[in-house]
Amino acid sequence: METLKIDSSQTKETLTQLQQLIQEQRHALKNGAATGELARQMAMWEQMVRQVQTDLMLEKSAQLNMLYELSHNINASLDWRRTLQSVMNAVIRITEAERGMFLLSNDDGKLDVEITSNASGEPFSEADLKFSYSIVGKSLQSERPILTTNAQIDPRFQNSDSIIAYGLRSILCVPLIHEGEPQGVIYLDNRAKSGIFTQEDLAILAAFGKHAAVAIANAQQHRHTDLALSEKVRELTILQEMARDLNTSLNYQRVMERSVAWAIAAAGAEAGSIGLIAEEGLRWEATVGQVEPDKSAALHSVYRKKPLMESFRMILPLQREERPIGVLYLTAQDRELKASKLEFVLRLADNVAIAVENARLYEALRQANQAKSDFVSIVSHELRTPMTSLQGYADTLYRGAAGELNAQQREFVEAIRRNTRRMQLLVKDLLDISRIEAGRLKLTPRSVDFKDVLTEAQHFIADQLEEKEQVFSLDVWNGLPKALADPDRLTQILINLLSNAIKYTPYRGTIAVRVWLPSEEPDFIRCAITDTGIGIGAQDQVRLFTKFFRVDNPDVKEQPGTGLGLAITKNLVEMHGGRIWLESERAKGSTFFFTIPIAMPEMSLAF
Ligand code: ADP
Repeated sequence: METLKIDSSQTKETLTQLQQLIQEQRHALKNGAATGELARQMAMWEQMVRQVQTDLMLEKSAQLNMLYELSHNINASLDWRRTLQSVMNAVIRITEAERGMFLLSNDDGKLDVEITSNASGEPFSEADLKFSYSIVGKSLQSERPILTTNAQIDPRFQNSDSIIAYGLRSILCVPLIHEGEPQGVIYLDNRAKSGIFTQEDLAILAAFGKHAAVAIANAQQHRHTDLALSEKVRELTILQEMARDLNTSLNYQRVMERSVAWAIAAAGAEAGSIGLIAEEGLRWEATVGQVEPDKSAALHSVYRKKPLMESFRMILPLQREERPIGVLYLTAQDRELKASKLEFVLRLADNVAIAVENARLYEALRQANQAKSDFVSIVSHELRTPMTSLQGYADTLYRGAAGELNAQQREFVEAIRRNTRRMQLLVKDLLDISRIEAGRLKLTPRSVDFKDVLTEAQHFIADQLEEKEQVFSLDVWNGLPKALADPDRLTQILINLLSNAIKYTPYRGTIAVRVWLPSEEPDFIRCAITDTGIGIGAQDQVRLFTKFFRVDNPDVKEQPGTGLGLAITKNLVEMHGGRIWLESERAKGSTFFFTIPIAMPEMSLAF
């Protein structure tokens, strides 16, 4: 027996032809006697029909299996469109449609054409996108599949102009409904032939539609989650960038202006102002673009702690820990502000509130610091004059210019002189530190000979050294390059370190000074001042350069001091571009190191 080759596109036709032949023969059999030959032919035909039917079934079930398998892959992956395309191609093969489409519901409840495919499995062009919305709409609305074998004469669509205009004929439409929610529609049509879709196609597609709706709903859900996630990531990135931007400076005005700029960008606005609560109500601190904020609307929003969202303006209250601190007032004229941005802009406003509060605190701190520096500076100046006069009289008394002093008087006058010197020292240090902190101490660096400065400092400490009978040694490199330094301040650095070394080293101890150019840092002169004194424990070393710190030790307490010398010294060294550090151990002496840049030939006198 000759086998029948199954060609999917011709299968139905072959079957119809065979059925017709058999029917004709049955007819002949009823009317007359069947010859042996005819009976044999009949049996063969019947067998062929059965085979075709079986093959057809197998073919269809294979195709259906593939379709279901494919539809499993409709997920939120990047390939979900490609999967939908393959599903559509399979649907077209099964139903022998000329064209097919997936129309999916968008967020506004309207249908978007998502996938199109022609009989060759290719998406069709925009120009070919001619279909009847009324059929699609009807199917979705009624939640029922629609099959029309000749739409042109179907009374249900008599009023649809597009059906006539586009010459639509056979149409099969299946709604995709998941949990009562319309997901979209599968649409198939044939313009060339009519009546090609069968009830069986409809039944298959309707069953498949249920399955596809679930897959599509899941994919949409994932896609929404993905979109929401990437939107969140974008928002977080913006917030992070804003925090970085606002934290680069605590300059009050800049923080205000940048905050407004970030809020404008986030809201998609055109202009904006930031207002902070002040004694007079609300004070507008910074404005970007053209805006005339409505103060009463702003205050209303601030005190009700509620944002105001309108198409032309957004008013966002700023608060810290539930306490209203101000408002962001954003406007747009040429475009509409979107309510969907409000949530994000509100989050941004929370961050702005933090930055504003920090800038405000910093500003208050800066002002308080300034006031304190001013106060210290004024008081120190005021104290200096009477102190000089006190010192003068005490010196005069001591010299005996007002009559010879007895031993006790001498002792008292000596105490006055010692203590006035101490106070003078304190006043000088206080003045220095307040100038440094207020940024008012300016250096005048020039090319100087380190050795000359050292000699100058030695004069100052000579008496102290002699008094304690300490050994002093000096080792300065020959051919040392010039230093780039303010000579007065360099002298001050050396005096501070040397007098500390003397103060905190017992009688007949040793003080050694070494100055050289280290090979590992050849652009800096290094100076080391070593003593054989009381030393400093590791714990105290950490706090050594902070203001007013003195080691808690009776050996220290018996020495005069303010705890300001090292703080001033560190500042002075660093203002020169150098650094300072120490090596020390309790009871084993200390070495203080500091560096000062060398004067490059082209750099000398450059400041
Ligand atoms: P002071 O006026 O107390 O000397 P400084 O700021 O110069 O203030 O020094 C801070 C503290 O560091 C001193 O009180 C002392 O405890 C410790 N110190 C500084 N130099 C030495 C040193 N060479 N040897 C031991 N301790 C030192």
